[in-house]
Order: sequence, then C-alpha cells, then structure tokens
Amino acid sequence: MTKKILIVEDSEFYGKLLKRSISSKLGFQVIWCKSFKETEQAMVDTDNILLAILDYHLPDAMEGEIIELCRNRHIPSIVMTATFSPDIQEVIWSKKVIDYVIKEGAHSISYIIEQIDRFNKNQHIGILVVDDSSVSRTHLRQLLKIHQFKVYEAVDGNEALKVLDANLDIKLALVDYQMPVCDGFEFTKRAREKYPLERLAIIGISAIGSHSMMIKFIKYGANDFITKPFVSELLYCRVNQNIKVIEYFETLREVALLDPLTEIHNRRYLYESGELLFNNAVRNGNYISVAMIDIDDFKLVNDTYGHEAGDIVIKSIAQVLKRSIRKSDIVVRYGGEEFCILGNNMDPKEILSLFDNLRKKIEEYEFTYDGRKFTVTASFGLCIEKKNTLTDMINNADNNLYRAKELGKNRVHL
Ligand code: GH3
Ligand code: MG
Ligand code: MG
Repeated sequence: MTKKILIVEDSEFYGKLLKRSISSKLGFQVIWCKSFKETEQAMVDTDNILLAILDYHLPDAMEGEIIELCRNRHIPSIVMTATFSPDIQEVIWSKKVIDYVIKEGAHSISYIIEQIDRFNKNQHIGILVVDDSSVSRTHLRQLLKIHQFKVYEAVDGNEALKVLDANLDIKLALVDYQMPVCDGFEFTKRAREKYPLERLAIIGISAIGSHSMMIKFIKYGANDFITKPFVSELLYCRVNQNIKVIEYFETLREVALLDPLTEIHNRRYLYESGELLFNNAVRNGNYISVAMIDIDDFKLVNDTYGHEAGDIVIKSIAQVLKRSIRKSDIVVRYGGEEFCILGNNMDPKEILSLFDNLRKKIEEYEFTYDGRKFTVTASFGLCIEKKNTLTDMINNADNNLYRAKELGKNRVHL
C-alpha cells in the first residue's frame, strides 16, 4: 500500500508548490485540503497517511487547532507558519510535531521535501539510547519515536556494546555520561575500537556541559555533544545531521564497490562479500563454487569495431550474467573483459550445465554496432570444490579458465 501525504493549506501558492514537489520528487500521493472542516471530512481512512504538512493559520482554525486534529488521529505532522513567534513556536513543539518550518518561499519547500524523505527513511534506522535513568531513556525514546526511528535502549555501556553487536541497523548512539557501570567515556572508547566514524555516530549527553566534558567525549571518539536539559528541536538537528553523515559514508562505500562501466560490483566487492559467503559456506557445510569468465579474442572486437563497441560488449555481457544468477550469488567484473561468479549453494550436479547454458546465451547474443552485426564467445573456468580459502578457489578457477583457452576457447572447463 503506497503511503500518502496530507497537505492542509489554504494558500494556493504553497499548496500547489508542495503538491507538485512531493509527487515529482518523492512519488507520494497527495491529499490537499484547504480548511479544517475539509480535513475533518477527508479523514475517513487515516491508516495510509505517512505524515501531514499543516498550515498553522487556517481560515476556520486560526490557532493551530489542525495540529491537535491530526495528533488525535495519530498522524505525525510538520507545521508551517508565515511568521516567526517564540510563543507560537513553543506551543507547536509542545504538540509533539516532527518539525516546524517558517514559510520563506522555495527554500522552505525543499527543506520540507528533505524532511519527508528523512522521516520515511527513519523507520529503518536504529538509534541506541544509553542511560541508567529510565526517565531520561523514556524521554529520548518518545522524542525519537515521533521521528519514526527504531529505538534501542541500554542501561550502561556494557549492555550497550552487546545491543550494538546484535543490531546492525543502529547508526547512532546517544550516550549519557554518568552511569554506574561502564560510563559514557568508557563506552565511547570501546565502541570506537569496533565501530569507526563512518559506521556509527556517537553523541554524548550530560547535565555537566563543561568544556572539559565535551572535549573528553570528542577525544574518546564521539561526534557531538548535547547538554541536558535540551530543546527537542536541537536534538533533532543533531540527530539528523549525524545520520546524514553516516548515510553519506554508506553511499561512498557503495560507489567504491561498483564498477563504473558495467554498474555491477567490482573485484573489491568480491573479496569483501565473497569472504562472508565463503566463511558461511564453511560453517554451514553449504556448497560454494567459483566461475572465472573471460571473453574470447576480445582484442579483435576492439580492433575491428572500435573501443566503444568493446565497451558495449562488456556492459551487455555483464547484464546477461547478472540476469542469469540468483540474488544470493555474486557476479563481479574482475578486470578488463573478465568476470567472476560466486555460486552460493549451487547443486554440483547441475553446475556444469548451468554454466554451459550461460556460455550459449553469450554465444547467441547478437550485437549491432554502426549497422554491423556480430557475436562474441566466452570461456569459463570452474572450481566446484571447497578449498582452504576463497583465493585458492579463485586461483583454481583461473587455472581452469587458462585450460579452457588452451583447449580452443568457447567452452567450460572444470
Ligand atoms: P583471449 O581469447 O585469450 O582472452 O584473448 P583476448 O583478446 O580476449 O585477451 P587479451 O588479454 O589479449 O586482450 C584483452 C583486451 O581487452 C585488451 C584490452 O585493451 C581490452 N580491454 C580491457 N578493458 C577494456 C575496456 O574496459 N573496454 C574495452 N573496449 N576494451 C578493454
Ligand atoms: Mg546517568
Ligand atoms: Mg579475453
């Protein structure tokens, strides 16, 4: 079921702009109501509303009554106002909204779009709250829940380290300084030994907001610091910013493991993820197999049709391979015109025919370049017996590939 966004806004300008931006940039369906009354009538099915964007001043509800209406129906909301007033701001925050935005033209719209996107992603992001005081933990949990985060709790640093190990979706830890066993500094120091900055953000929290406290937290490896008591808006700013940094690192990592030409994974990915697959197969006694695949006489393709045609061939073969394997297998561009497939639990009796079918698929694939048609072939070297290491298996498959070439190419050797 696709989620919808509710907009309650009487201004044509903002309503239209928001509606258009939300559908085009985020792809959500939008329900746009122009008054309190219209919203009340529209609220038949509130289950699939992700969140609401609310104008504080509506012609028939001048004092933010719309926020209460949505809150009663359990719809999280982002509130917009035309003017800034500390009093109104305080009232709005007391109603446990996601965010509060002042209408300042296009900038506010892109900010709201970013917040909706953030809110939607938060349900998959874990935040760990480490504090011995259950009152503090509950307070933080409630604030984080408003933003849809998955909240984990621990009463001291030792427990926190265990929770971290067991839950890979935790991207941020909010850590109190004072705890009876393993305090905030000790936790930060020990967490950093295992979880680098690009994997986990740590924010220290303490009522003692002295410079030396903040410096010490940061020196032990925390990213940031918040002094108690704090306003929720500040917490949200810090949390969002730190999660954004972690996501940025994740994107960089993903890019580093992709081959830019074919957009399938690269050799580095094979050694990282393949190692996990290999160890898993050893532990569970599963089958694991390696196939090294090399396009035959590829130099001739480049020489005959040009380098660009060669690139197209590499890209197309990569797609043929990717489409032919299961999700649990790995295919990478190993180098130039060479690919590697790691088969996870493929039945050894079927492997040979499976790869021979793949070989045929490549042989039958027709390329057209500059109006000229041509085909290519590829040779396969297999290793279907588990060796001591993944590298041993890759080397064995590579030797078999060499034999396949010696025996006349366009064949599978094992
Ligand atoms: P064999 O059948 O023995 O494998 O012969 P081959 O010609 O395929 O192998 P060889 O190693 O002699 O040549 C591979 C060629 O692939 C040389 C290299 O210029 C070309 N190549 C490597 N990477 C790319 C690429 O990204 N794009 C293109 N177009 N060519 C590439
Ligand atoms: Mg404490
Ligand atoms: Mg070749």
